[in-house]
Amino acid sequence: MIEGQCLCGIVKYQYHGEIEKTIICYCKDCQMAQGSLFGWNSALQKSKLEILNGIKFLKEYFHRSNKARVFCQECGSPIYSYRIDLPNVIRLRLGTVTHGKLPSPDEQAYVEYKPDFLLIRPVNLSTE
Ligand SMILES: [Zn+2]
Ligand SMILES: [Zn+2]
Repeated sequence: MIEGQCLCGIVKYQYHGEIEKTIICYCKDCQMAQGSLFGWNSALQKSKLEILNGIKFLKEYFHRSNKARVFCQECGSPIYSYRIDLPNVIRLRLGTVTHGKLPSPDEQAYVEYKPDFLLIRPVNLSTE
């Protein structure tokens, strides 16, 4: 069982499953959306995500016509994203997880935007 919340705590969720794979994405969209060096997320089943509190505070922002980034409109924490053409999949923003096991990333995407000073060497990291 995975639990998480946004920074202000209005949005709380549970994920009724395990997180088996995680990915770090350095694309400019993720950098700007997170205000940070990368996004850390996991592709999960939408049906297993339960918003326990604050669902009306979740706002969807469509940066691209088929992709929504969903965040708490009170504090701005990114919670997950999804694509219109993949309605059963969400990509949970793993910095919001407060309880549960998070595996090291399996994959890095858009490493051309990875800053040189950042050294990440998880055990099984393959894509470089
Ligand atoms: Zn919040
Ligand atoms: Zn990205």
